[in-house]
Amino acid sequence: TEPLLEISQFKLHFHTDKGVVKAVDGVDITVGEGEVVGLVGESGCGKSVTSLSVMGLVPQPPGKVAGGSIRLAGKDLTRLGRKEWRKVRGNEVSMIFQEPMTSLNPVFTIGNQMVEAIRQHRKLDKKEARRLAAETLREVGISREGILDEYPHQLSGGMRQRVMIAMAMVCRPKLLIADEPTTALDVTIQAQILDLMRRLNEETGTAILMITHDLGVVAEMCERVVVMYAGQVVEQADIQTLFRDPRHPYTQGLLKSIPKLDKRTDRLYSIPGNVPNPRSMPQGCRFAPRCEFAMDICREKEPGLFTLGENRVSRCWLEEEKKEDADRGTTTVH
Ligand code: SF4
Ligand code: MG
Repeated sequence: TEPLLEISQFKLHFHTDKGVVKAVDGVDITVGEGEVVGLVGESGCGKSVTSLSVMGLVPQPPGKVAGGSIRLAGKDLTRLGRKEWRKVRGNEVSMIFQEPMTSLNPVFTIGNQMVEAIRQHRKLDKKEARRLAAETLREVGISREGILDEYPHQLSGGMRQRVMIAMAMVCRPKLLIADEPTTALDVTIQAQILDLMRRLNEETGTAILMITHDLGVVAEMCERVVVMYAGQVVEQADIQTLFRDPRHPYTQGLLKSIPKLDKRTDRLYSIPGNVPNPRSMPQGCRFAPRCEFAMDICREKEPGLFTLGENRVSRCWLEEEKKEDADRGTTTVH
């Protein structure tokens, strides 16, 4: 059966005065019904543009779909018109962002905003919508009297994020996209919000695409992980496999940069160098300028995705080497 979300060879380019920026450059990602999938990478690797594309929120122009498709429950989202988008966004797919204040309108009460969001998709009168709003807020752990008549600035950051989650979930979307939902929150609140999202996933069956630079968050939440670098998928694996045996040097670098609670280190590891300028991608492997294993072929030819098993790929020439070694029946010791 078809997955709930199927992004196939999707390309999203920006046309600017200084040239074409290939922000998303041929990406394949799937999310099954009820599944929680992590999309990780440093900022500027294309994960946010990918997720905004699933929401139809990339302004076109300057953005332009340059190839591929995004199918949600069988519908190609890249072909939806304005009117159709209004039915899909907030209803079949919703999104929450990092900074709650940017998505809650400061001049309207929580109740007004929620009622508004509900009535866009459900034929309910204001009273019924208000009741549904209160009920959904209770589901996300907010039961305080009078909350519906409060304004966003009267709430803490953690509460605002709960309200955002309630608003995103109120129409029971099939897919929730969460872009760095806990990054701005302190550690305790962060854990509570992740708990909440996990519980909602279990109780409602809403699938989650979790966008984050933090593999720690992914470990808490996700069944499967997709790693993006420079507009492409570079590795994909289920969560245990990825942590036990990361294959792509970029993934290995990301894993090394997770802070360890049990170890006191003065300085956290970070991958040397920066993500490449998308207007002038390096020749060959896009990660080569930062890769400690780079070989001659890496600087000449771009690696494709090597399939390493079910739902397991890596975009790295080292896999070719390993394959040849295996074919020759030798083992290489590094
Ligand atoms: Fe490193 Fe080469 Fe693999 Fe790129 S293809 S990640 S440069 S080893
Ligand atoms: Mg981002």
